[in-house]
Amino acid sequence: MQDFRADLHCHSTFSDGSKTPKEIVLQAKRNGLSGLSITDHDTIDAYETAFSIAADHSLDLIPGVEFSAEHRGHSVHILGYSFSTKSLFIQQLCQKHFQRRIRRYKAILELLARESMPISEQELTEQYPSHTNIGRPHIALVMVKKGYVKSLEEAFFRFLAEGKSCYVKGESFSVEETIRVIHEGGGLAIIAHPHLMKRRDILKDLLDMNFDGIEGYYANFGIEENKRWIDIGKKKKWIITGGSDSHGNIKPQITLGCSWVGESTFHILKQHLMRHGKDSLP
Ligand code: AMP
Ligand code: FE
Ligand code: FE
Ligand code: ZN
Repeated sequence: MQDFRADLHCHSTFSDGSKTPKEIVLQAKRNGLSGLSITDHDTIDAYETAFSIAADHSLDLIPGVEFSAEHRGHSVHILGYSFSTKSLFIQQLCQKHFQRRIRRYKAILELLARESMPISEQELTEQYPSHTNIGRPHIALVMVKKGYVKSLEEAFFRFLAEGKSCYVKGESFSVEETIRVIHEGGGLAIIAHPHLMKRRDILKDLLDMNFDGIEGYYANFGIEENKRWIDIGKKKKWIITGGSDSHGNIKPQITLGCSWVGESTFHILKQHLMRHGKDSLP
């Protein structure tokens, strides 16, 4: 029998993943996972159905989310786990992000039109269900489809990444405020993928904040790269989480379950859920 593995970071069709929660659960089983958390950007809507689907397939599921936040003008992603999905604090923050994302994609489309890459709102939204939290990957995919760029990576590199001509930040929520909302919802707040953070000064500030953990095992990063964050987490006596950050076919190079945590870490999150977010469960 294979050891217990749980992937604590992936995205569904509720944000910028290509698979529905059901398809993710089935893929998780095929990939030999025993535990999972779906961490969509700024929404927990996957959990309206995901718990019963996971139960049907004997997969242990922990509620999760990946909130977009900002610190001194820089984007920071924060994972929340084991909160109550019924929490109005969490639900209200998700709702604010949903509105922010609509205003933001409209602003991005305006900038793209100015760069002679028109995309109508309909061309963007008709491809996705109405619940989808539209993000830059969705816009990048339409840019590829319309022949403006060759790949999603090129769309980011030339136009959509932070600091590029069609980047729009939108309204922002501070890291402190986001941690507070996760805690008010009974959850644990974790620094997502420190591996990707280019600004050391921002990271240094984050390490002094009221987080409960850090994502130490991430995507296809190797032992050496992960070790740095695992060591920091250990020193701070934080929970060290891990996951693939799978987006399905949108990022085919990342396989669900390529990064994971074992049973003891999963158990900590599960225990926390039973104490603080039990009403999430159906
Ligand atoms: P958004 O939530 O709209 O700000 O978009 C952020 C998402 O875009 C991230 O979670 C990734 O899925 C994706 N992303 C960010 N930077 C890049 C990049 N350089 N290349 C490809 N995808 C990216
Ligand atoms: Fe994403
Ligand atoms: Fe992220
Ligand atoms: Zn993610």
